[in-house]
Amino acid sequence: MKVLVIGGGIIGCLTACFLKKQGADVVVLERGQMGQEASWAGAGILCPIHPWLYPDSFTKLIDASLDLYPKFQQHIEKDTGMVIERYVSGLMIPFFNDDKINHWQAALDWSQRLDWQVDILNQNQSLEHEPALSKAVIKSLLWRDVAQVRNPRLLQAIQAWMQMLGVEIRQQTEVTSLLCKQGKVSGVQCADGVSIEADQVLLAGGSWSGVLAEQLGFSLPVRPVKGQIVLLKGEPNIMHSMVKHDDAYFVPRKDGRILVGASMEFVGFARGNTDEVIDMLLQSMARIMPGLKSLTIEKQWMGFRPGSPDGLPFLGAVEGIEGLWVASGHYRNGVALAPITAQVMSDWMMGKKPKLDMQDFSPSRHIAANTALGFPQK
Ligand SMILES: Cc1cc2nc3c(=O)[nH]c(=O)nc-3n(C[C@H](O)[C@H](O)[C@H](O)COP(=O)(O)OP(=O)(O)OC[C@H]3O[C@@H](n4cnc5c(N)ncnc54)[C@H](O)[C@@H]3O)c2cc1C
Repeated sequence: MKVLVIGGGIIGCLTACFLKKQGADVVVLERGQMGQEASWAGAGILCPIHPWLYPDSFTKLIDASLDLYPKFQQHIEKDTGMVIERYVSGLMIPFFNDDKINHWQAALDWSQRLDWQVDILNQNQSLEHEPALSKAVIKSLLWRDVAQVRNPRLLQAIQAWMQMLGVEIRQQTEVTSLLCKQGKVSGVQCADGVSIEADQVLLAGGSWSGVLAEQLGFSLPVRPVKGQIVLLKGEPNIMHSMVKHDDAYFVPRKDGRILVGASMEFVGFARGNTDEVIDMLLQSMARIMPGLKSLTIEKQWMGFRPGSPDGLPFLGAVEGIEGLWVASGHYRNGVALAPITAQVMSDWMMGKKPKLDMQDFSPSRHIAANTALGFPQK
């Protein structure tokens, strides 16, 4: 069976690997360079930002993905000889008297109900664990089992894996339309006029999936949500765990670098960093983690999260066009959700029904806009 995957981000590429392992003949079509959009730009936190806001079906999907990560890491690192730097650093949420939203009870209830081990730290314990934190912290929650991954390295390893497995990658190849025969997919047409035949097509075009879906003949409400990130140059052990707050999050890498992210901007495909947003991130840092203030800024960048109105991804077959599938709209969670997406989609496309209930993620589900998880105001 020949499968075309549109989009060379983490979702398209990893699903292509899983499909190839199941015996499909797979070609990934990427408009630019592989893995240079959201999947590269992300922070690599392997946990949703506020998991208690999501439906339980989403937590099941996340749990299933996080369960796959250790074995997946072992496989890919062994096969490619590359290190993806996935490790358990823990995740802390500090609480302050002037917090605009108080997540305390919701976070605790959710953790207990869904069996996510969490520790309650008082002020002293919080500052002992993260000395760079503001002394205004009153208490914190610490999920010690939460991991992170260095996503640009993961992308490089996936690219090497694709080559080893024999997945064909065509870069600088933009898909513009779908070829169909009697309501069934027969391939795609590319911008350079070349058409490529296939039995099945997977749309994994990240933030561009909404536009692309229209070109392919169906509707998918995926829109870009821009995120800007600042990278600080630090020394190892200035921070121990990832720290997140409503205004910003802080992700320490093993080499001492610290990511400060990320804005949520609904500004279409406007590329580039802006002084206003970078200043806002740095101000949040000065307030929440003043111990990082002396570090120098090494770099800043941005990316477009493939957003959806209810914050949930679109995974499954497109109704009415046989052989067309979607894996997109992973929004803030695409790196965390990549292994389960690749597993579910490859199984499904190879004729095996997924073990998880995927109804909530159906591309044709009824979508109720969710103000907490969906698109930001601007
Ligand atoms: C600032 C920021 C922070 C983030 N932090 C995290 C985090 O901590 N944890 C987490 O899990 N997730 C995080 N995310 C989200 C995560 O990065 C995304 O959900 C994920 O990368 C989406 O992967 P993707 O493959 O769908 O999209 P992308 O990586 O954007 O890939 C889509 C690809 O499709 C290609 N394409 C588009 N149109 C066409 C076409 N017509 N023909 C051919 N190719 C096409 C594009 O060029 C692109 O390469 C973050 C994202 C951002 C921007």
